[in-house]
Amino acid sequence: MPDVLISEVGPRDGLQSVPRTMPTRDKLAWIDALHASGLREIEVCSFVPAKLLPQMADAAEVVAHALTLPGLIVMALVPNLRGAQAAIAAGVHKITIPASASEAHSLANVRKTREAMVEEVRQIVKYRNDVAPHVKIECGMSTAFGCTIQGEVKEDDVIWIANEMAEAGVDESGLSDTTGMANPAQVRRLFTRLHSEIGDRMGAAHMHNTRGLGLANCLAAYDAGVRTFDSSLAGLGGCPYAPGASGNVVTEDLVFMFEAMGVRTGVDLDVLIAARAPLMAGLPGEPLYGMLPEAGLPKGWRS
Ligand code: ZN
Repeated sequence: MPDVLISEVGPRDGLQSVPRTMPTRDKLAWIDALHASGLREIEVCSFVPAKLLPQMADAAEVVAHALTLPGLIVMALVPNLRGAQAAIAAGVHKITIPASASEAHSLANVRKTREAMVEEVRQIVKYRNDVAPHVKIECGMSTAFGCTIQGEVKEDDVIWIANEMAEAGVDESGLSDTTGMANPAQVRRLFTRLHSEIGDRMGAAHMHNTRGLGLANCLAAYDAGVRTFDSSLAGLGGCPYAPGASGNVVTEDLVFMFEAMGVRTGVDLDVLIAARAPLMAGLPGEPLYGMLPEAGLPKGWRS
């Protein structure tokens, strides 16, 4: 059993922030390669209207393929009940719902107040309980560490919405540094507080590397007891607010950090790096980030 779960979000978070659409057969080959490296949770798509995100129009087909991969937790992002119904119909094991800790971001992103989002999540949980009780529901609190619209987000606001979500019946609640504003002291403080509020229902750390603190923030979250980490192969999904900077934490670098520390991820780094090839094949010319793939594994490295 690995010590931490690396939850690969590239096929969803990465691909939906790239304007081009990766052809379906390339997506499937990429997901196969990610799975072959030992990754055991992949956010493979989001269930949103195809006219809003044409990159995700093949979501049901991608899920159907991912379900054939042994031992893989197949996860999809859904913004509302309708998306949850489609994801559950497609057969996902787990759905993740983003909920903004910042009121301004919530209104801009989903045109809902935070209270209305909590109500939407209640309906999703009820639907899940009725038709597919085995499906897990995760809530990712976006803008938990700062918001590009309103700036500072009060820690009490983050804890408030986390408690609301726990009460609504979600299985896990994690914190997302959507805007790349977090620092390690803040991450340690907020996850420690989250853990004291909701205990083992604390979910993933979703960190961005926009300002270079992605790995430091993951380590701070680990120290605070987090054991699930979202990241994206090659940091796919450049941040529009910081040209030249990657958005998501780079999976290769994150796995290297943990493995080098003796924290087992279950991921083979050579095979993981090889998973860049199908990504490049599907999105030729897309910038790939990551320090480890540039430098290579150190001499004498053994996974
Ligand atoms: Zn992200």
